[in-house]
Amino acid sequence: MDHIQTKPASQLQSIKEVFTLQKQNLPALNRTSTGDRLSKLKAIERFLMDKDQQEKLKQAMHEDFRKPGVEVMISEVSVVLQQIRHIKKNLRRWLQPQLAETPLPMIGTKSYNLYEAKGNCLIIAPWNYPLNLSIAPLAYAIAGGNAAIIKPSEMTPHTSAFVQEMIESLFPSEEVAVFNGDKEVAQALLELPFNHIHFTGSPQVGKIIMRAAAEHLASVTLELGGKSPAIVDRTAPIKATAEKTAWGKFFNNGQTCIAPDYLLIEASVKEEFVSAFQQVVKKMYDSEGKGVQQSPDYSRVVNDRHFKRIKHLIEDAVKKGAKVVTGAKFDEAERYIAPTLLDNVTEEMDIMQEEIFGPVLPIRTFQSQEDVIRIIKARPKPLSMYIASRNRQFVNHIIDETSAGGTVINDYLLGYSNPDVSFGGVNNSGIGRAFGKKGFEEFVNARAVIKRQFGTLKMLYPPYTNGVKRIVAFITKWF
Ligand code: NAD
Repeated sequence: MDHIQTKPASQLQSIKEVFTLQKQNLPALNRTSTGDRLSKLKAIERFLMDKDQQEKLKQAMHEDFRKPGVEVMISEVSVVLQQIRHIKKNLRRWLQPQLAETPLPMIGTKSYNLYEAKGNCLIIAPWNYPLNLSIAPLAYAIAGGNAAIIKPSEMTPHTSAFVQEMIESLFPSEEVAVFNGDKEVAQALLELPFNHIHFTGSPQVGKIIMRAAAEHLASVTLELGGKSPAIVDRTAPIKATAEKTAWGKFFNNGQTCIAPDYLLIEASVKEEFVSAFQQVVKKMYDSEGKGVQQSPDYSRVVNDRHFKRIKHLIEDAVKKGAKVVTGAKFDEAERYIAPTLLDNVTEEMDIMQEEIFGPVLPIRTFQSQEDVIRIIKARPKPLSMYIASRNRQFVNHIIDETSAGGTVINDYLLGYSNPDVSFGGVNNSGIGRAFGKKGFEEFVNARAVIKRQFGTLKMLYPPYTNGVKRIVAFITKWF
Protein backbone atom coordinates (compact mmCIF):
# COMPACT_ATOMS: atom_id res chain seq x y z
CA MET A 1 0.00 0.00 0.00
CA ASP A 2 1.38 3.45 -0.89
CA HIS A 3 0.69 6.04 1.78
CA ILE A 4 1.45 9.74 1.44
CA GLN A 5 3.23 10.51 4.72
CA THR A 6 1.41 13.11 6.74
CA LYS A 7 0.64 14.04 10.33
CA PRO A 8 -2.44 12.73 12.17
CA ALA A 9 -5.61 14.78 11.87
CA SER A 10 -5.37 16.32 15.34
CA GLN A 11 -2.15 18.08 14.34
CA LEU A 12 -3.42 19.45 11.12
CA GLN A 13 -4.61 22.98 11.04
CA SER A 14 -8.02 22.58 9.69
CA ILE A 15 -10.79 20.30 8.61
CA LYS A 16 -10.45 21.77 5.13
CA GLU A 17 -6.81 20.81 4.95
CA VAL A 18 -7.56 17.17 5.76
CA PHE A 19 -10.48 17.15 3.34
CA THR A 20 -8.21 18.44 0.56
CA LEU A 21 -5.53 15.87 1.37
CA GLN A 22 -8.12 13.12 1.26
CA LYS A 23 -9.46 14.43 -2.03
CA GLN A 24 -5.99 14.32 -3.57
CA ASN A 25 -5.63 10.76 -2.34
CA LEU A 26 -8.92 9.52 -3.84
CA PRO A 27 -7.55 8.13 -7.13
CA ALA A 28 -4.95 6.10 -5.22
CA LEU A 29 -7.57 4.81 -2.79
CA ASN A 30 -9.95 3.91 -5.61
CA ARG A 31 -7.15 1.90 -7.24
CA THR A 32 -6.41 -0.13 -4.09
CA SER A 33 -6.83 -3.86 -4.51
CA THR A 34 -9.29 -5.98 -2.54
CA GLY A 35 -6.30 -7.28 -0.59
CA ASP A 36 -5.21 -3.74 0.37
CA ARG A 37 -8.70 -2.92 1.63
CA LEU A 38 -8.96 -6.16 3.55
CA SER A 39 -5.61 -5.54 5.23
CA LYS A 40 -6.94 -2.19 6.52
CA LEU A 41 -10.00 -3.95 7.92
CA LYS A 42 -7.80 -6.60 9.49
CA ALA A 43 -5.85 -3.83 11.24
CA ILE A 44 -9.11 -2.61 12.82
CA GLU A 45 -9.99 -6.20 13.72
CA ARG A 46 -6.61 -6.76 15.42
CA PHE A 47 -6.95 -3.50 17.33
CA LEU A 48 -10.39 -4.42 18.66
CA MET A 49 -9.33 -7.97 19.51
CA ASP A 50 -6.51 -6.62 21.69
CA LYS A 51 -7.44 -7.24 25.33
CA ASP A 52 -5.81 -3.99 26.54
CA GLN A 53 -7.77 -1.95 24.00
CA GLN A 54 -10.98 -3.73 25.01
CA GLU A 55 -10.31 -2.84 28.65
CA LYS A 56 -9.63 0.79 27.69
CA LEU A 57 -12.87 0.90 25.73
CA LYS A 58 -14.89 -0.60 28.61
CA GLN A 59 -13.38 1.99 30.94
CA ALA A 60 -14.23 4.83 28.55
CA MET A 61 -17.82 3.64 28.20
CA HIS A 62 -18.15 3.15 31.94
CA GLU A 63 -17.10 6.76 32.42
CA ASP A 64 -19.47 7.97 29.72
CA PHE A 65 -22.65 6.21 30.88
CA ARG A 66 -21.72 3.23 33.02
CA LYS A 67 -22.28 0.85 30.16
CA PRO A 68 -21.72 -2.71 31.47
CA GLY A 69 -18.65 -4.51 30.06
CA VAL A 70 -20.77 -7.35 28.65
CA GLU A 71 -22.91 -4.86 26.71
CA VAL A 72 -19.75 -3.15 25.41
CA MET A 73 -18.57 -6.48 24.04
CA ILE A 74 -21.95 -7.52 22.57
CA SER A 75 -23.15 -4.28 21.09
CA GLU A 76 -19.94 -2.43 20.22
CA VAL A 77 -16.92 -4.71 19.73
CA SER A 78 -18.67 -7.88 18.48
CA VAL A 79 -20.96 -5.98 16.13
CA VAL A 80 -18.04 -4.21 14.46
CA LEU A 81 -16.06 -7.45 14.23
CA GLN A 82 -19.09 -9.25 12.77
CA GLN A 83 -19.40 -6.58 10.05
CA ILE A 84 -15.68 -6.73 9.26
CA ARG A 85 -15.80 -10.53 9.01
CA HIS A 86 -18.85 -10.30 6.75
CA ILE A 87 -16.97 -7.91 4.46
CA LYS A 88 -13.88 -10.14 4.50
CA LYS A 89 -16.01 -13.05 3.35
CA ASN A 90 -17.78 -11.16 0.56
CA LEU A 91 -15.70 -8.22 -0.67
CA ARG A 92 -13.99 -10.02 -3.56
CA ARG A 93 -17.40 -10.98 -4.94
CA TRP A 94 -18.96 -7.54 -4.28
CA LEU A 95 -16.17 -5.79 -6.17
CA GLN A 96 -16.43 -8.03 -9.24
CA PRO A 97 -17.81 -6.11 -12.23
CA GLN A 98 -21.41 -7.32 -12.72
CA LEU A 99 -21.93 -8.43 -16.29
CA ALA A 100 -25.38 -7.54 -17.64
CA GLU A 101 -27.49 -9.30 -20.28
CA THR A 102 -27.49 -7.86 -23.80
CA PRO A 103 -30.91 -7.04 -25.32
CA LEU A 104 -31.27 -7.86 -29.04
CA PRO A 105 -31.02 -4.27 -30.40
CA MET A 106 -27.76 -3.94 -28.42
CA ILE A 107 -26.12 -6.91 -30.12
CA GLY A 108 -22.44 -6.26 -30.57
CA THR A 109 -22.07 -4.60 -27.15
CA LYS A 110 -21.05 -5.80 -23.72
CA SER A 111 -22.39 -4.11 -20.57
CA TYR A 112 -21.40 -4.29 -16.97
CA ASN A 113 -21.53 -2.37 -13.68
CA LEU A 114 -18.23 -1.36 -12.18
CA TYR A 115 -18.13 -0.54 -8.48
CA GLU A 116 -16.06 2.59 -8.03
CA ALA A 117 -15.53 4.46 -4.77
CA LYS A 118 -17.85 7.39 -4.11
CA GLY A 119 -14.87 9.41 -2.86
CA ASN A 120 -14.88 11.73 0.15
CA CYS A 121 -17.19 10.26 2.78
CA LEU A 122 -18.40 11.86 6.00
CA ILE A 123 -19.58 9.67 8.88
CA ILE A 124 -21.48 11.47 11.64
CA ALA A 125 -22.16 9.25 14.65
CA PRO A 126 -24.50 9.47 17.64
CA TRP A 127 -23.59 8.77 21.26
CA ASN A 128 -25.67 5.70 22.07
CA TYR A 129 -23.39 3.12 20.40
CA PRO A 130 -20.42 5.41 19.91
CA LEU A 131 -17.82 2.89 18.72
CA ASN A 132 -20.12 0.66 16.68
CA LEU A 133 -21.82 3.52 14.80
CA SER A 134 -18.51 5.19 13.91
CA ILE A 135 -16.44 2.16 12.98
CA ALA A 136 -18.96 -0.19 11.32
CA PRO A 137 -19.87 2.40 8.64
CA LEU A 138 -16.15 3.13 8.29
CA ALA A 139 -15.49 -0.54 7.49
CA TYR A 140 -17.93 -0.29 4.56
CA ALA A 141 -16.43 3.03 3.42
CA ILE A 142 -12.98 1.40 3.36
CA ALA A 143 -14.35 -1.66 1.55
CA GLY A 144 -15.61 0.70 -1.16
CA GLY A 145 -12.17 2.33 -1.55
CA ASN A 146 -13.14 5.71 -0.07
CA ALA A 147 -11.50 8.30 2.15
CA ALA A 148 -13.47 9.09 5.30
CA ILE A 149 -13.81 11.66 8.04
CA ILE A 150 -15.60 10.60 11.21
CA LYS A 151 -17.37 13.03 13.54
CA PRO A 152 -18.19 11.12 16.74
CA SER A 153 -20.66 12.45 19.28
CA GLU A 154 -19.65 15.07 21.82
CA MET A 155 -21.89 13.43 24.44
CA THR A 156 -19.61 10.44 25.05
CA PRO A 157 -16.24 12.24 25.26
CA HIS A 158 -14.24 9.30 26.62
CA THR A 159 -15.35 6.90 23.91
CA SER A 160 -15.01 9.56 21.21
CA ALA A 161 -11.39 10.14 22.34
CA PHE A 162 -10.83 6.37 22.15
CA VAL A 163 -12.17 6.36 18.56
CA GLN A 164 -9.84 9.21 17.63
CA GLU A 165 -6.77 7.52 19.16
CA MET A 166 -7.65 4.26 17.48
CA ILE A 167 -8.03 5.80 14.02
CA GLU A 168 -4.89 7.93 14.34
CA SER A 169 -2.87 4.88 15.31
CA LEU A 170 -4.18 2.88 12.33
CA PHE A 171 -4.58 5.30 9.43
CA PRO A 172 -2.85 8.31 7.92
CA SER A 173 -5.18 11.30 7.84
CA GLU A 174 -5.41 11.35 4.05
CA GLU A 175 -7.27 8.03 4.34
CA VAL A 176 -9.28 8.27 7.55
CA ALA A 177 -9.46 11.12 10.04
CA VAL A 178 -11.51 11.91 13.13
CA PHE A 179 -12.72 15.35 14.16
CA ASN A 180 -14.21 15.43 17.60
CA GLY A 181 -16.49 18.21 18.72
CA ASP A 182 -20.08 19.38 18.86
CA LYS A 183 -22.51 20.44 16.17
CA GLU A 184 -20.25 23.36 15.19
CA VAL A 185 -17.65 20.86 14.01
CA ALA A 186 -20.37 18.91 12.20
CA GLN A 187 -21.57 22.10 10.54
CA ALA A 188 -18.04 23.02 9.40
CA LEU A 189 -17.70 19.56 7.89
CA LEU A 190 -21.10 19.79 6.21
CA GLU A 191 -19.98 22.88 4.29
CA LEU A 192 -17.48 20.77 2.36
CA PRO A 193 -18.40 19.00 -0.88
CA PHE A 194 -18.42 15.42 0.40
CA ASN A 195 -19.51 12.78 -2.09
CA HIS A 196 -21.40 10.74 0.47
CA ILE A 197 -22.67 11.40 3.98
CA HIS A 198 -23.52 8.56 6.35
CA PHE A 199 -25.43 10.00 9.30
CA THR A 200 -26.77 8.16 12.32
CA GLY A 201 -28.86 10.20 14.73
CA SER A 202 -32.24 11.78 15.26
CA PRO A 203 -34.78 12.55 12.53
CA GLN A 204 -34.58 16.27 13.48
CA VAL A 205 -30.83 16.48 12.80
CA GLY A 206 -31.25 14.11 9.84
CA LYS A 207 -33.24 16.87 8.12
CA ILE A 208 -30.40 19.35 8.71
CA ILE A 209 -27.93 16.86 7.23
CA MET A 210 -30.07 16.28 4.16
CA ARG A 211 -30.45 20.02 3.59
CA ALA A 212 -26.68 20.48 3.79
CA ALA A 213 -26.09 17.50 1.50
CA ALA A 214 -28.44 19.05 -1.07
CA GLU A 215 -26.04 22.01 -1.48
CA HIS A 216 -23.46 19.65 -3.02
CA LEU A 217 -25.93 16.99 -4.17
CA ALA A 218 -24.08 14.53 -1.97
CA SER A 219 -25.75 11.16 -1.57
CA VAL A 220 -26.92 10.34 1.95
CA THR A 221 -27.51 7.35 4.14
CA LEU A 222 -29.65 8.45 7.07
CA GLU A 223 -29.97 6.01 9.95
CA LEU A 224 -32.57 7.67 12.18
CA GLY A 225 -34.92 6.71 15.00
CA GLY A 226 -38.53 6.98 16.07
CA LYS A 227 -41.15 5.08 18.02
CA SER A 228 -40.79 1.33 17.43
CA PRO A 229 -43.89 -0.51 18.69
CA ALA A 230 -43.81 -3.82 20.57
CA ILE A 231 -47.06 -5.56 19.63
CA VAL A 232 -48.17 -8.51 21.76
CA ASP A 233 -51.36 -10.47 21.11
CA ARG A 234 -53.09 -13.03 23.34
CA THR A 235 -51.51 -16.02 21.55
CA ALA A 236 -47.95 -14.98 22.49
CA PRO A 237 -46.21 -16.84 25.35
CA ILE A 238 -46.69 -13.97 27.79
CA LYS A 239 -44.02 -14.73 30.39
CA ALA A 240 -41.27 -15.31 27.83
CA THR A 241 -42.39 -12.24 25.87
CA ALA A 242 -42.27 -10.08 29.01
CA GLU A 243 -38.71 -11.26 29.63
CA LYS A 244 -37.61 -10.52 26.06
CA THR A 245 -39.34 -7.12 26.15
CA ALA A 246 -37.56 -6.14 29.39
CA TRP A 247 -34.21 -7.15 27.89
CA GLY A 248 -34.87 -5.24 24.64
CA LYS A 249 -36.05 -2.16 26.53
CA PHE A 250 -33.42 -1.89 29.27
CA PHE A 251 -30.36 -2.92 27.23
CA ASN A 252 -28.17 0.23 27.12
CA ASN A 253 -30.78 1.81 29.44
CA GLY A 254 -33.34 2.06 26.65
CA GLN A 255 -30.95 4.25 24.66
CA THR A 256 -31.15 2.10 21.53
CA CYS A 257 -32.56 3.25 18.20
CA ILE A 258 -34.35 -0.10 17.82
CA ALA A 259 -35.47 -0.42 21.45
CA PRO A 260 -39.16 -1.31 21.77
CA ASP A 261 -40.50 2.20 22.41
CA TYR A 262 -44.04 1.43 23.59
CA LEU A 263 -46.03 -1.73 24.28
CA LEU A 264 -49.19 -2.37 22.28
CA ILE A 265 -50.81 -5.34 23.96
CA GLU A 266 -54.14 -7.14 23.60
CA ALA A 267 -56.21 -5.99 26.58
CA SER A 268 -57.07 -9.52 27.77
CA VAL A 269 -53.40 -10.43 28.50
CA LYS A 270 -52.19 -7.09 29.89
CA GLU A 271 -52.41 -8.03 33.58
CA GLU A 272 -50.50 -11.27 33.01
CA PHE A 273 -47.79 -9.35 31.11
CA VAL A 274 -47.53 -6.63 33.77
CA SER A 275 -46.99 -9.09 36.58
CA ALA A 276 -44.45 -11.17 34.57
CA PHE A 277 -42.61 -7.97 33.56
CA GLN A 278 -42.21 -6.85 37.18
CA GLN A 279 -40.80 -10.25 38.11
CA VAL A 280 -38.27 -10.36 35.27
CA VAL A 281 -37.02 -6.83 35.97
CA LYS A 282 -36.33 -7.92 39.53
CA LYS A 283 -34.62 -11.11 38.33
CA MET A 284 -32.44 -9.25 35.81
CA TYR A 285 -31.39 -6.22 37.84
CA ASP A 286 -32.20 -6.85 41.49
CA SER A 287 -31.77 -10.55 42.14
CA GLU A 288 -29.93 -9.89 45.41
CA GLY A 289 -32.55 -7.44 46.68
CA LYS A 290 -30.14 -4.49 46.98
CA GLY A 291 -32.12 -2.36 44.52
CA VAL A 292 -31.66 -1.88 40.77
CA GLN A 293 -29.48 1.16 41.34
CA GLN A 294 -26.76 -1.12 42.76
CA SER A 295 -26.78 -3.41 39.72
CA PRO A 296 -23.55 -3.27 37.66
CA ASP A 297 -25.63 -4.44 34.68
CA TYR A 298 -27.87 -1.38 34.47
CA SER A 299 -26.42 1.69 32.73
CA ARG A 300 -27.24 5.36 33.19
CA VAL A 301 -28.84 8.07 31.09
CA VAL A 302 -26.07 9.71 29.07
CA ASN A 303 -26.34 13.32 30.28
CA ASP A 304 -28.41 15.81 32.30
CA ARG A 305 -30.39 17.05 29.32
CA HIS A 306 -31.63 13.57 28.47
CA PHE A 307 -32.21 12.80 32.19
CA LYS A 308 -34.48 15.85 32.49
CA ARG A 309 -36.21 15.05 29.19
CA ILE A 310 -37.09 11.46 30.22
CA LYS A 311 -38.10 12.53 33.74
CA HIS A 312 -40.43 15.09 32.17
CA LEU A 313 -41.99 12.39 29.93
CA ILE A 314 -42.80 10.27 33.00
CA GLU A 315 -44.08 13.22 35.08
CA ASP A 316 -46.19 14.56 32.23
CA ALA A 317 -47.77 11.12 31.72
CA VAL A 318 -48.52 10.74 35.44
CA LYS A 319 -50.00 14.25 35.59
CA LYS A 320 -52.30 13.36 32.68
CA GLY A 321 -53.52 10.13 34.33
CA ALA A 322 -50.92 7.40 33.69
CA LYS A 323 -50.41 4.86 36.46
CA VAL A 324 -46.89 3.92 37.57
CA VAL A 325 -46.77 0.11 37.68
CA THR A 326 -43.12 0.06 38.61
CA GLY A 327 -40.16 2.46 38.60
CA ALA A 328 -40.44 6.25 38.18
CA LYS A 329 -37.66 6.64 40.75
CA PHE A 330 -34.85 9.08 40.04
CA ASP A 331 -31.38 9.94 41.28
CA GLU A 332 -30.33 13.09 39.45
CA ALA A 333 -26.73 13.05 40.70
CA GLU A 334 -26.19 9.65 39.06
CA ARG A 335 -28.59 10.24 36.17
CA TYR A 336 -30.35 7.06 37.31
CA ILE A 337 -33.92 6.33 36.28
CA ALA A 338 -35.40 3.06 37.57
CA PRO A 339 -36.85 0.62 35.00
CA THR A 340 -40.32 2.10 34.55
CA LEU A 341 -43.61 0.61 33.36
CA LEU A 342 -46.55 3.00 32.84
CA ASP A 343 -50.17 1.94 32.43
CA ASN A 344 -53.27 3.94 31.35
CA VAL A 345 -51.22 5.84 28.79
CA THR A 346 -53.05 7.92 26.17
CA GLU A 347 -52.01 9.50 22.88
CA GLU A 348 -52.26 13.01 24.39
CA MET A 349 -49.29 12.39 26.69
CA ASP A 350 -45.87 13.67 25.57
CA ILE A 351 -44.47 10.16 26.02
CA MET A 352 -46.53 9.00 23.01
CA GLN A 353 -45.46 11.98 20.91
CA GLU A 354 -41.67 11.55 20.81
CA GLU A 355 -39.06 8.78 20.82
CA ILE A 356 -38.51 7.89 24.51
CA PHE A 357 -34.85 6.78 24.30
CA GLY A 358 -34.73 5.85 27.97
CA PRO A 359 -35.75 3.09 30.42
CA VAL A 360 -39.51 3.65 30.28
CA LEU A 361 -42.17 1.41 28.72
CA PRO A 362 -45.66 2.91 28.31
CA ILE A 363 -48.56 0.49 27.77
CA ARG A 364 -51.30 0.95 25.18
CA THR A 365 -53.91 -1.77 24.75
CA PHE A 366 -55.92 -3.00 21.78
CA GLN A 367 -59.08 -5.03 21.27
CA SER A 368 -58.83 -5.73 17.55
CA GLN A 369 -56.29 -5.95 14.74
CA GLU A 370 -57.73 -2.76 13.30
CA ASP A 371 -56.89 -0.91 16.56
CA VAL A 372 -53.25 -1.97 16.13
CA ILE A 373 -53.09 -0.74 12.55
CA ARG A 374 -54.79 2.56 13.40
CA ILE A 375 -52.42 3.28 16.31
CA ILE A 376 -49.30 2.46 14.26
CA LYS A 377 -50.43 4.38 11.21
CA ALA A 378 -51.17 7.49 13.27
CA ARG A 379 -47.41 8.16 13.46
CA PRO A 380 -44.45 8.04 11.05
CA LYS A 381 -43.12 4.69 9.81
CA PRO A 382 -41.01 3.15 12.61
CA LEU A 383 -37.42 1.96 12.39
CA SER A 384 -38.35 -1.41 13.83
CA MET A 385 -41.61 -3.21 14.53
CA TYR A 386 -41.86 -6.06 17.00
CA ILE A 387 -44.68 -8.59 16.86
CA ALA A 388 -45.04 -11.31 19.49
CA SER A 389 -47.70 -13.77 18.40
CA ARG A 390 -48.30 -17.41 17.50
CA ASN A 391 -51.07 -16.38 15.12
CA ARG A 392 -49.60 -16.31 11.62
CA GLN A 393 -52.67 -14.58 10.19
CA PHE A 394 -52.30 -11.76 12.78
CA VAL A 395 -48.58 -11.32 12.01
CA ASN A 396 -49.11 -11.28 8.24
CA HIS A 397 -52.03 -8.86 8.49
CA ILE A 398 -49.96 -6.37 10.54
CA ILE A 399 -47.04 -6.66 8.12
CA ASP A 400 -49.31 -6.23 5.08
CA GLU A 401 -51.10 -3.17 6.44
CA THR A 402 -48.13 -1.22 7.82
CA SER A 403 -44.58 -0.22 6.87
CA ALA A 404 -41.35 -0.21 8.91
CA GLY A 405 -37.59 -0.20 8.37
CA GLY A 406 -37.46 -3.74 9.77
CA THR A 407 -39.63 -6.23 11.63
CA VAL A 408 -38.70 -8.81 14.24
CA ILE A 409 -41.18 -11.54 15.14
CA ASN A 410 -41.06 -13.13 18.60
CA ASP A 411 -37.88 -11.38 19.75
CA TYR A 412 -36.24 -7.94 20.06
CA LEU A 413 -33.19 -6.02 18.77
CA LEU A 414 -32.28 -8.75 16.24
CA GLY A 415 -32.77 -6.39 13.31
CA TYR A 416 -29.18 -5.34 13.73
CA SER A 417 -27.71 -8.82 13.81
CA ASN A 418 -27.81 -10.30 10.32
CA PRO A 419 -25.73 -8.37 7.78
CA ASP A 420 -27.31 -10.42 4.99
CA VAL A 421 -30.64 -8.61 5.40
CA SER A 422 -29.00 -5.19 6.01
CA PHE A 423 -30.48 -2.54 8.30
CA GLY A 424 -32.24 0.78 7.94
CA GLY A 425 -35.36 2.89 8.29
CA VAL A 426 -37.98 4.27 5.97
CA ASN A 427 -38.74 8.00 5.60
CA ASN A 428 -38.81 9.47 9.13
CA SER A 429 -36.80 6.51 10.48
CA GLY A 430 -34.19 6.65 7.73
CA ILE A 431 -33.12 6.60 4.11
CA GLY A 432 -30.84 3.94 2.64
CA ARG A 433 -29.43 0.83 4.25
CA ALA A 434 -26.45 0.08 6.45
CA PHE A 435 -24.37 -3.10 6.49
CA GLY A 436 -24.26 -6.14 4.26
CA LYS A 437 -24.17 -5.88 0.48
CA LYS A 438 -26.78 -3.12 0.47
CA GLY A 439 -24.73 -1.14 2.99
CA PHE A 440 -21.62 -1.60 0.83
CA GLU A 441 -23.54 -0.32 -2.19
CA GLU A 442 -24.22 2.98 -0.37
CA PHE A 443 -20.48 3.69 -0.45
CA VAL A 444 -19.89 2.89 -4.13
CA ASN A 445 -21.11 4.18 -7.44
CA ALA A 446 -22.41 1.42 -9.72
CA ARG A 447 -20.86 2.82 -12.88
CA ALA A 448 -22.52 1.47 -16.00
CA VAL A 449 -19.98 0.62 -18.71
CA ILE A 450 -21.17 -0.30 -22.21
CA LYS A 451 -18.58 -1.33 -24.76
CA ARG A 452 -19.28 -1.65 -28.49
CA GLN A 453 -17.40 -4.69 -29.81
CA PHE A 454 -18.89 -4.92 -33.29
CA GLY A 455 -21.86 -3.62 -35.28
CA THR A 456 -23.40 -0.14 -35.30
CA LEU A 457 -26.70 1.74 -34.88
CA LYS A 458 -26.07 3.51 -38.20
CA MET A 459 -29.38 2.34 -39.65
CA LEU A 460 -31.09 4.73 -37.15
CA TYR A 461 -29.06 7.83 -38.05
CA PRO A 462 -30.64 10.76 -39.92
CA PRO A 463 -31.95 11.45 -42.44
CA TYR A 464 -35.07 9.73 -41.07
CA THR A 465 -36.24 8.04 -44.21
CA ASN A 466 -39.23 5.72 -44.45
CA GLY A 467 -36.76 2.84 -44.05
CA VAL A 468 -35.59 4.24 -40.67
CA LYS A 469 -39.21 4.75 -39.62
CA ARG A 470 -40.01 1.12 -40.46
CA ILE A 471 -37.05 -0.09 -38.33
CA VAL A 472 -38.17 2.13 -35.41
CA ALA A 473 -41.73 0.77 -35.71
CA PHE A 474 -40.36 -2.80 -35.73
CA ILE A 475 -38.17 -2.14 -32.63
CA THR A 476 -41.05 -0.43 -30.82
CA LYS A 477 -43.33 -3.38 -31.53
CA TRP A 478 -40.97 -6.27 -30.80
CA PHE A 479 -38.26 -5.16 -28.33
P1 NAD B 1 -28.37 13.61 17.32
O1 NAD B 1 -29.13 13.67 16.05
O2 NAD B 1 -28.65 14.63 18.34
O3 NAD B 1 -26.78 13.70 17.05
C1 NAD B 1 -26.12 12.84 16.15
C2 NAD B 1 -24.86 13.53 15.64
O4 NAD B 1 -25.22 14.73 14.96
C3 NAD B 1 -23.86 13.94 16.72
O5 NAD B 1 -22.55 13.64 16.28
C4 NAD B 1 -24.06 15.44 16.83
O6 NAD B 1 -22.88 16.16 17.19
C5 NAD B 1 -24.48 15.83 15.43
N1 NAD B 1 -25.35 17.02 15.41
C6 NAD B 1 -26.22 17.42 16.37
N2 NAD B 1 -26.83 18.58 16.01
C7 NAD B 1 -26.35 18.88 14.77
C8 NAD B 1 -26.58 19.96 13.86
N3 NAD B 1 -27.45 20.93 14.14
N4 NAD B 1 -25.91 19.96 12.70
C9 NAD B 1 -25.04 18.96 12.40
N5 NAD B 1 -24.76 17.93 13.22
C10 NAD B 1 -25.40 17.89 14.40
O7 NAD B 1 -28.60 12.12 17.87
P2 NAD B 1 -28.11 11.50 19.25
O8 NAD B 1 -28.86 12.12 20.38
O9 NAD B 1 -26.63 11.46 19.30
O10 NAD B 1 -28.62 9.98 19.04
C11 NAD B 1 -29.92 9.58 19.30
C12 NAD B 1 -30.75 9.45 18.03
O11 NAD B 1 -30.07 8.65 17.09
C13 NAD B 1 -32.06 8.75 18.30
O12 NAD B 1 -33.08 9.36 17.55
C14 NAD B 1 -31.81 7.33 17.80
O13 NAD B 1 -32.98 6.62 17.45
C15 NAD B 1 -30.93 7.60 16.63
N6 NAD B 1 -30.12 6.43 16.30
C16 NAD B 1 -30.37 5.76 15.13
C17 NAD B 1 -29.65 4.61 14.82
C18 NAD B 1 -29.87 3.84 13.56
O14 NAD B 1 -29.03 3.03 13.21
N7 NAD B 1 -30.97 4.06 12.84
C19 NAD B 1 -28.66 4.16 15.70
C20 NAD B 1 -28.44 4.88 16.87
C21 NAD B 1 -29.17 6.02 17.15
